Amino acid sequence: MAVKRVIKAVHVVPMGFANAFLIEGDDGLTLIDAGYPHKEAAVFGAIRGLGRSPDPLKHLITHGHPDHIGSAAAIVRETGARTYMHPLDIPIAESGGPFRPMTPVPGLTGVLCKLFFHPDERVEPVAIDQPLTDGEILPIAGGFEIIPTPGHCAGQVALLWRPGRMLFAGDVCTNMMGLGDPVGFESLEEGRASQRKLARLSFDAAGFGHGAPIARDASTRFRNKYGKNPEDVYQQRSAA
Ligand SMILES: [Zn+2]
Ligand SMILES: [Zn+2]
Repeated sequence: MAVKRVIKAVHVVPMGFANAFLIEGDDGLTLIDAGYPHKEAAVFGAIRGLGRSPDPLKHLITHGHPDHIGSAAAIVRETGARTYMHPLDIPIAESGGPFRPMTPVPGLTGVLCKLFFHPDERVEPVAIDQPLTDGEILPIAGGFEIIPTPGHCAGQVALLWRPGRMLFAGDVCTNMMGLGDPVGFESLEEGRASQRKLARLSFDAAGFGHGAPIARDASTRFRNKYGKNPEDVYQQRSAA
């Protein structure tokens, strides 16, 4: 599948139902997410589509779910990329499963969870070189702010890429038919708090593990969808 530019230096790599993103930095390429198993050819094709050989892939960041670490081991084997993950998900990536159970969300999206997410699934284990620290600025590709956003997955982080003002939301939410929930949550309450946390940030573009990236005015959409604090709404109602 062809690589598609989202904003300058950021490209989305469609990997079936899941996305990955390639970011061009002065220090080589960074890959966010690594798709289901056996999808590594999509990443290598995308890198070649940028006129490069796979060697410049230097960094890989993701969370510990099979649709995002599935091809990580194969990609690292080919490229030698350094791997980054939140400490809570590292044991899962390094064992290749099993995965923590999630409660499917109601409706069609939750059906996808039942169809495609099996906690007992095993994928090829991948060694993680560097644990991510909440709130750090990871000094790669010009700087990613690491924003802890548990709920869907305890080790989920959102990445705010400062040079391009682009938020990589991972699976905190999706953009399949507008902004919406991921297929499931380990903790719904934490997941909602993480969505509201992203709505308080300022950014222009946004990328998602699932669904279409947004090139501009993305934080307005987040604010409209998640910006209302339920306590504020409650207070307004009781004051009325
Ligand atoms: Zn996930
Ligand atoms: Zn996912």
